[in-house]
Amino acid sequence: MSITTNPFDDDKLHEECGIFGVYGHIDSAALTALGLHALQHRGQEAAGIVTYQDGQFFSHRAAGQVGDNFSEESVISKLPGRSAIGHNRYSTTGDTLTRNIQPLFADFASGGFAIGHNGNLTNAVAIRRGLVQRGCLFQSTTDTEVIIHLIATSKFDTIVDRTVAALQAVEGAYSLVALHNDTLIGVRDPHGVRPLVLGRFEEAWILASETCALDIIGAEYVRDIEPGEMVLIDEDGLQSMHPFKPKPHRFCIFEYIYFARPDSTIEGKNVYEARKKIGRELALEAEIVADVVIPVPDSGVPAALGYAEEAGIPYELGIIRNHYVGRTFIEPTDRIRHLGVKLKHNANRQVIEGRRVILVDDSIVRGTTSVKIVEMVRAAGATEVHMRIASPPTTYSCFYGVDTPERDQLLAAQNNLEEMAKIIGVDSLAFVTIDGLYRAMGLDGRNAESPQYCDACFSGEYPIQLTDHSTDQPSPQLSFLTQLA
Ligand code: AMP
Repeated sequence: MSITTNPFDDDKLHEECGIFGVYGHIDSAALTALGLHALQHRGQEAAGIVTYQDGQFFSHRAAGQVGDNFSEESVISKLPGRSAIGHNRYSTTGDTLTRNIQPLFADFASGGFAIGHNGNLTNAVAIRRGLVQRGCLFQSTTDTEVIIHLIATSKFDTIVDRTVAALQAVEGAYSLVALHNDTLIGVRDPHGVRPLVLGRFEEAWILASETCALDIIGAEYVRDIEPGEMVLIDEDGLQSMHPFKPKPHRFCIFEYIYFARPDSTIEGKNVYEARKKIGRELALEAEIVADVVIPVPDSGVPAALGYAEEAGIPYELGIIRNHYVGRTFIEPTDRIRHLGVKLKHNANRQVIEGRRVILVDDSIVRGTTSVKIVEMVRAAGATEVHMRIASPPTTYSCFYGVDTPERDQLLAAQNNLEEMAKIIGVDSLAFVTIDGLYRAMGLDGRNAESPQYCDACFSGEYPIQLTDHSTDQPSPQLSFLTQLA
């Protein structure tokens, strides 16, 4: 969620994140650490937890994974209190600013305020410029900080009215957890682009990006926070409100394809089942005679299972993943990224040699993974290699919080199917169609009048205005902060 005027200038600044919140448990920090650990796939660059007790806030924020920073009792014991929020940050950038690590914190006249954000605001640069002109002093380069300044400078009295007014001014995708003194706040933007669920653990309330973070602590899933809903949780219980003008629901379909954990259930759909169904659609749409279906692990596994079941072709683990290497995307330079792919996968010659192979992966972004995997599978003796992708071609960048490179680096934005097959080095290549994808989600196909998901990365139809990206505005002055990094 770093701020950027034009994401096409720099593909490094887009992030996904994981958020978690607890109200009403003596072990709020430990529960938050566990929740963040379950959400580690959403952000591995930095993690932070803020707790509240008796008029005081406690915070620990650090670069690295949750286990690196929050496994010690000595850290957790310095985070006392019955309410807590936490945040995992994902970024491909290497030069992270410590001050960008969330939850962000500020002192308002009414008390302390901590906030964690998943998503990306699309008018943060424009708002920031106005606020800076009015004298606001920004402490970070994140888009999230504009929310804090909008609340601080609001003409309204209560924290609820101030927060609502602030969020009415921002555009983009946001799922938020916040702590204002002893009150836990959760919000989902009116389009509901990013996930947020509500759970109960003993007497405590839990907010989390995904249900897998409820499961880890044994919390009960209550429901998804609705698009445009704001919940306030305090000693009087939970209060729900819908203060924003209703907008068409546009949950990010890429969460189902790749981002969310397969054991999570989002808006009533289990992610693993959704991925398997996409694989089935892919088999129906792009059948090919072959001996074996092999997933690109781990992201291609559920779709490959669905494909193999539908096609009646044996499923084998022909590529083994080394789990001790981070996601390929996190490597900061092209050179290292290539190295990362080699470090990450190895062919299992036993199931490949002399066979016609169907490789299944969830998506192709730059094509780096596919090129390496195909090379590896051929070297292991495959007689034919067919690639099947469980998403439509990624042809547009995401501005709502999923890390995607600029368009000129998206393989499918620059090449047709035939060219892509040649670059990747496969005998055939096919992507599931957008209608097939929607069918897998239980719909009749994509209804052009009211698509129920945000699929901008495939369709180029952006449901939320891209104010910062459609105007020719100069970048905000961030050089001072960068020097301090
Ligand atoms: P590429 O190698 O550039 O074609 O990237 C495709 C691979 O990266 C696929 O195996 C995906 O599982 C994974 N992937 C797709 N989108 C993302 C993303 N936003 N962040 C991290 N990894 C991704």
